[in-house]
Amino acid sequence: MNADPTTPETETTESEATMPKRKTPHTTNRFSPRYRNIVPAKGGALADLITGEWTPADEQNGIERVEAIGYAPANDTERLIALRHGGAVGRPFDTVLTRGNASAARRAFAERLVAMFPGAARAGDLVYFGTAAVDSVEFVLAATDALGVELNVKKPRDLALACEYLLDVGRSLTWRSRFAWIATPGADPATAAVKPWGHLSARQLAEARRAYAEYLRARIECPKLLRPTYGSLACFVCGVGEVLGLPSRAAEAWHTVTLRPHSLGGKPGMRPVETEVCAVCAADAEAVGSYGPTILDRLVKRAAGIEGNPRARDLQLSAKAWGVMGRKRANAVAFGHLDLARLVDDVKAGVIG
Ligand SMILES: [Zn+2]
Repeated sequence: MNADPTTPETETTESEATMPKRKTPHTTNRFSPRYRNIVPAKGGALADLITGEWTPADEQNGIERVEAIGYAPANDTERLIALRHGGAVGRPFDTVLTRGNASAARRAFAERLVAMFPGAARAGDLVYFGTAAVDSVEFVLAATDALGVELNVKKPRDLALACEYLLDVGRSLTWRSRFAWIATPGADPATAAVKPWGHLSARQLAEARRAYAEYLRARIECPKLLRPTYGSLACFVCGVGEVLGLPSRAAEAWHTVTLRPHSLGGKPGMRPVETEVCAVCAADAEAVGSYGPTILDRLVKRAAGIEGNPRARDLQLSAKAWGVMGRKRANAVAFGHLDLARLVDDVKAGVIG
């Protein structure tokens, strides 16, 4: 856990020749100049696939073969090569890993949690079941283990939030992640961490700590209706005045943007305005790249429930954003300023589209 961030990946054999012969080239004593956080896995030892811990044969619980198509590019030249080779450089290779006793116990705990709270392991709208759920919870437990804290799960919501905040970071911390698919430059499959999590840099741990702090805050928070941050009446695009979100994430609920009303159904002469848009409209606009007719049409069609209708696919609505209408009140629902019911009827009747 106190891995030196300046020597993250490769253990080296530097100055082996200058050392007295009977000494090994590395030591687990952190205060020795021969200390290495990553050491060769010799004599039947394997790395633990979660913590990386050097695990002798009699403490191994099964093996897992992890495939890599090569290494992530480490410089501009390699990046050019990687472009033509699926994002990796070098040759494909396998890494054989195991679960030490601690990781086997952690896996069993993950299985128990999944059995106790079925359907609680999730990422966004995706709910995990079976092995995928156990894998997810194992990553969550990996994150808390790396930080030396205990995951306290009393109800399904606790586990769902833990997955939301800790699953990705937990996965990124695992030893396995350094060898899976596109390996971390310098990661050597014949090595192990000198102690659990010995491979982690200070930066990685700081990131995990931040994620854990956010998880704790979310656990004690209730979602609230959040109004625009800087006093706008409503979302300039869809017109809703409040969105549901966690108060600590209020900054993500509303986005400040500069828009050209002309491209959102306004009159040609209207000047660009600095205004606020809700997270829903902002997410779609970011995907498209700008606030214009394309995004407006897409959001209106979705609000009307006709997004998947083939008749509506190429339909150009020339709709107006709430903000160009000069209204004094927010909409009760998204795009409430438009006649969505009529739009639906027209599309279904084949009048337009
Ligand atoms: Zn909106």
